[in-house]
Amino acid sequence: MNKTANNLAELIGDTPLVKIASLSQLTGCDIYVKCEFLNPGGSVKDRAALQMVTDAIDSGKLKPGMTIVEGTAGNTGIGLAIVAKSLGYDLEVVMPKGQTKEKEQMIELHGAKLHLVDAVPFSNPAHFYHTARTMAENNPKYWWADQFENLSNSKAHFTYTGPEIYQQTQKDIDVFVSVAGTGGTLGGISKYLKSQNTDIKTVAVDPDGSGILNYLAQGKHIASEGGSFTEGIGIMRLVENFKQAKIDYAVNLPDQDIVTVANYVRKHDALVLGSSSALNVTAALFSAIQFGPTNGGEKQTIVTIACDLGERSISKLYNEEFLASKNIDINKQSIEQLIEKYLANTESLKKVDFSA
Ligand code: PMP
Repeated sequence: MNKTANNLAELIGDTPLVKIASLSQLTGCDIYVKCEFLNPGGSVKDRAALQMVTDAIDSGKLKPGMTIVEGTAGNTGIGLAIVAKSLGYDLEVVMPKGQTKEKEQMIELHGAKLHLVDAVPFSNPAHFYHTARTMAENNPKYWWADQFENLSNSKAHFTYTGPEIYQQTQKDIDVFVSVAGTGGTLGGISKYLKSQNTDIKTVAVDPDGSGILNYLAQGKHIASEGGSFTEGIGIMRLVENFKQAKIDYAVNLPDQDIVTVANYVRKHDALVLGSSSALNVTAALFSAIQFGPTNGGEKQTIVTIACDLGERSISKLYNEEFLASKNIDINKQSIEQLIEKYLANTESLKKVDFSA
């Protein structure tokens, strides 16, 4: 690779896959992460940002001199900041309070205007989503990206991320695992992989307090018990990008497991993962145990997404004081104990058949 680019936006995508050697060895499977943290904005959301903006320019909705506005947990804001500046647009970002300071600071350092709003349920008009929408409705100079309903988001993953994964595994992929926020990543990639081979198993993973698992298993967005310190994932409503997904299995895993896995791969694989990535890798481990040799199955090639790095989660996932306030002890369970727990637990992986 010997790239020369005219601006940072041109460097979005085309990310490598890396094997997580430690967990692969423990499970007898090949577990890979797609290094989306290597995008210039440091997350998987750069891809959605670029596709949404370029599609809007192409369709004439976003014209020179207009301002992009978006509601986001942070990473889409950072991605949009890079795309906006690269292509010559201003950006205003609406974020709920309580996300890590690291993301708020990055958005401001990139020169976007940040509006922090209270974290309220979606039904409240002050929700970050409605705030961004209303700003755009009230000002013809604003263009609202709308990452939840704007299908350019999942299109980025159907057109690029999915094919990259298929090619990087030489079409030899057994399981794809992903969290969902808007569902763009899961939607686009699972739809592409299934279009190539319906035998590829797709697994959606959900944090505590989210409604995706119950929606997939029972048709209703009922929140699972507890809450999660993960950010940007989990959702309580069905949105267009999620609807693109083709999902065979769903699992809900607790923050305590995320902490065990994050610290294990941090120590063994030089990967300091962000919290949603750590949940992805935890679910990849869970899938390796359920489908692979430890449970009498064949060796599986499993791919998941490293959505961002731990730099954006230092104040939560890697902060023992914060974890203690959530009753999480980083020394509570070893990786071997977690694997034993997953071996004994065949019920958590729910067979679903989501294909809207
Ligand atoms: N991980 C992180 C860190 C994110 O910020 C997001 C998006 N908010 C996701 C995962 C989920 O990605 P998607 O919106 O494509 O479902």
